[in-house]
Amino acid sequence: METLREVLTRARTESVAVGHFNVSDLAALKAIIGAARDLKLPVMVGVSEGEREFVGLQQVAALVRSYREESGCPIFLNADHTHSIEKAEQAARAGFDEIIFDGSSLPFEKNLEQTKKAVELIKSINPNCMVEGEIGYIGSSSDVIAKVPEGASILTTPDEAKHFVAATGVDILAPAVGNMHGLLESMVTGAVQKRLDIERIAAIRDAAGIFMTLHGGSGTNDEDFKKAIKAGMTIVHVNTEIRLAWRRAMETAFAAEQSVVPYKLLVHVVVAIQKVVAARLELFSSK
Ligand SMILES: [Zn+2]
Repeated sequence: METLREVLTRARTESVAVGHFNVSDLAALKAIIGAARDLKLPVMVGVSEGEREFVGLQQVAALVRSYREESGCPIFLNADHTHSIEKAEQAARAGFDEIIFDGSSLPFEKNLEQTKKAVELIKSINPNCMVEGEIGYIGSSSDVIAKVPEGASILTTPDEAKHFVAATGVDILAPAVGNMHGLLESMVTGAVQKRLDIERIAAIRDAAGIFMTLHGGSGTNDEDFKKAIKAGMTIVHVNTEIRLAWRRAMETAFAAEQSVVPYKLLVHVVVAIQKVVAARLELFSSK
């Protein structure tokens, strides 16, 4: 079985990206794994601190491991947006393939100092666990939101990216390049799309020299996705789009069926999310 580092290295060489999707339940997990298996593509499953708390840290690790062993597919588990050293340590011990230490709400130097500490600790527990650091602010809520979060328009510069990567030893960098967590209502209808600063992505990639993740991918213009991947993004996160699909499918299921059998209702959710994930995986992996 290939490691996450090997999968990312190959993706970078081929100028494609690996899709990363969050889960809160088994329906979403089944959908993500189903899409990746059908398309024979690697995939990353993410759990934020809230999602980890709901599903259970050990439980989500065991589930993903079990699906990976049974399917033989390259499915990787990421501890998304981890805000404390303590929670990073727990995820490292639970066998996660990647941990995002997110100190982006801290002042730059404090973020750098905390991320460096997290990298050292995680690597001492599992040298193969990849660590991602985050600079710049892109909002924090993967929900449908009324307005752009305050401070989310300040973009990462190549100089701070270079400095941060050299000082912390992270394997992967999450910069702010016009991306944003969550979806504005105008983005749900498709009237407005997120647009990315492609030149900045290329400049940060050259300065940082490591893998990069595009967070807050939901609602992004398709051409911008493709250009961003060519310019240096090797992981792309999509969460709000699948949460939206989850909610809509539940509403459809409740309206269409009188049944109280959960697995008969939840199958609507699996089908809906699988469709979204498959479309995103195809886009991110197309050359
Ligand atoms: Zn994110």
